[in-house]
Amino acid sequence: AADAAMYHAKTLGKNNLQFYSEELNQIVHEHLLLEASLSRAIRDHQMVLDYQPKVDLRTGKVVGAEALVRWRHPVDGMIAPDRFIPVAEETGLIVPLGEWVIDEACGALKAMRMLGIEDFVISVNLSARQLRQREFADRLGATLERHGVEPCKLELEVTESQLMDHPDDALEALAQLKALGVRLSIDDFGTGYSSLSHLQKFPVDYIKIDRSFLGNVGHDGHLVITRAIIALGHNLKLKVIAEGVETREQLAFLRKHQCDEMQGYYFSPALSKETLQEMVTRDTRLPD
Ligand code: C2E
Ligand code: MG
Ligand code: MG
Ligand code: MG
Repeated sequence: AADAAMYHAKTLGKNNLQFYSEELNQIVHEHLLLEASLSRAIRDHQMVLDYQPKVDLRTGKVVGAEALVRWRHPVDGMIAPDRFIPVAEETGLIVPLGEWVIDEACGALKAMRMLGIEDFVISVNLSARQLRQREFADRLGATLERHGVEPCKLELEVTESQLMDHPDDALEALAQLKALGVRLSIDDFGTGYSSLSHLQKFPVDYIKIDRSFLGNVGHDGHLVITRAIIALGHNLKLKVIAEGVETREQLAFLRKHQCDEMQGYYFSPALSKETLQEMVTRDTRLPD
């Protein structure tokens, strides 16, 4: 496969001679190597999901978790999604990868229910390419049914910028998913230039404030935005969650302004499924 990738790298280099440069060649080469080994990785079960707890800010209770994919590479060790998701998106491998993620998350929901954990929502990240697939909603419905998982226990996160690339197509796709009964949220909110008229039309349940707005409490230019997003969300009857919460001060700020939920290293990083289950079973809570 490495040879095949190298062969492709050469032909690609030839066909795009006008753009050729050492650096570009290097990038293309790495990209193709990654593509070849990524498709093998999905097949060979090298992908894993970790789960970052989400906490209700009024009760301190863990009410859900976000599934985050990692690549357990046999030679290079754990690879973070920022390194391979972009390649997966460009090559289309995000479709089989994303299907695996949903399947795995549904399996985790089912396992939690068997442990007696009922009111728990798992979210997965979706890329625009998955959303654009015609059969996506139908396939998702079939997957939920196969696992015997209630649609309302699964949440789909789509970033604001991906939604806003083609807002009308996104609206149609979201409406189909909403009809299935799954929960929808807009990820990295505040970075994607939503027009308010679109925002109002999207049938979503949650907005996730991008972590860049939490910044340092003290340098509070950004916190003004956080506060405005919370108010905007509530005015649109949406729930608001803050991601990337790392400090006591950020937490206090969010509580003061009635943000609904939080996730972040202050409470917990992403955990293995087993560790998450243990945390929920023990009813570990965010302290006051
Ligand atoms: P995201 O969906 O915005 O996920 C949040 C990222 O912030 C995660 O990084 C998480 O580990 C990290 N994070 C959580 N709490 C904190 C904190 O307190 N401080 C800081 N500095 N970071 C925090 P991760 O796991 O590396 O994921 C990065 C991105 O990769 C995700 O951003 C998401 O866009 C993408 N991704 C992850 N899994 C999937 C997947 O299954 N499918 C797709 N399409 N994208 C995925
Ligand atoms: Mg996310
Ligand atoms: Mg995010
Ligand atoms: Mg992100």
